[in-house]
Amino acid sequence: MRITCPLCGERDRREFYYQGAAVLLERPAFDASDEAWDGYLHLRDNPAGKTRDLWYHEAGCGAWVVVTRDTVTHAVLDCVLASDVASGARP
Ligand SMILES: [Zn+2]
Repeated sequence: MRITCPLCGERDRREFYYQGAAVLLERPAFDASDEAWDGYLHLRDNPAGKTRDLWYHEAGCGAWVVVTRDTVTHAVLDCVLASDVASGARP
């Protein structure tokens, strides 16, 4: 799989560290139930199709990027800086 870093251009995905889905997880309260903590720590969606993931360009520029890809076809559809997504400059 090839990822086009907005700063470095197209690179092999092995240059990137995969963080996980690009969604904000709500941390349970300190005294929350074991079920709540189990869900927070271990349970993730595993969709077949389009996903948005957070990747770190570890062997490159060090940027955090949001990669939109298809888990069925392995096609990378978009890659933008996470800072642009956080600021609202990119969806
Ligand atoms: Zn880069």
